Amino acid sequence: MSIKSLTVFCGSKNGSDPLFVEHARKIGHLLAKNKVTLIYGGGNKGIMGAVANAVLENNGKVIGIMPRFLAVPEHQHNGVTEMIEVEDMHVRKRLLYEKCDAALVLPGGFGTMDEFFEMLTWNQLNIHNKKIFVLNTSGFYDHLVTFLNKTEEDGFLYSDIHQYLQVISLPEQLETLLGKKEVSGK
Ligand code: AMP
Repeated sequence: MSIKSLTVFCGSKNGSDPLFVEHARKIGHLLAKNKVTLIYGGGNKGIMGAVANAVLENNGKVIGIMPRFLAVPEHQHNGVTEMIEVEDMHVRKRLLYEKCDAALVLPGGFGTMDEFFEMLTWNQLNIHNKKIFVLNTSGFYDHLVTFLNKTEEDGFLYSDIHQYLQVISLPEQLETLLGKKEVSGK
C-alpha cells in the first residue's frame, strides 16, 4: 500500500544547521510531487513552516491541526489547504496520529520528541500500527538512535528496534519508503 498522507513532527524553530531547513524543504517538495498530503501541527515558524511552505509552493495539500490556545497569527499558518482547530494538545496529537498513513520525524525539540515517543508507544500498545520514519539530518539523531539501541540491548523493548522505526539520512530516501518509487534494479 502506498502512503497517501504523512504526518511530520519537527521543530517550531529552524535549528542552527542550515541543512535542517534545506532538508525540510526537500521533504515538502517530494510530498507535493508524489501527491502525499502533509499533516502537521499547523505552525508557520521554523522547520514546521518550511516543510508546509515547500508543499504549498509545489501545489501540494497541507492539513494543519492546531489547538485553540496556539491559534494566534504569530504561530498559525494562514495558507494551508485545511486548518483543523481543536480543544487541546491531547486532541491535536491524537488527530495527528489518526489521520495519517505514516509519520516522519525531522529535527526538533521537546514537542517533536513528545509526539515521536507517543506515536511509538501507541504502536507498541496496538492503538495504531503505523510506520515511523526518522530523517537523521546531519546526524542530529545519532545519540537518540544509540540510546534506543541501548533500550533494546538492555531488554526494555517488546520487539526489534527496526520494527518500530526506520532511520534515513537523506530526504530522497523517503520516496522509496512512500511506495511511490520503484526500488532500484526493478
Ligand atoms: P518543538 O520540537 O518543541 O519545536 O515542537 C514542535 C512540535 O510540537 C510540532 O510537531 C508541533 O506539533 C508542536 N508545536 C510546538 N510548538 C508549536 C507552535 N508554536 N505551533 C504549532 N505547533 C507547535
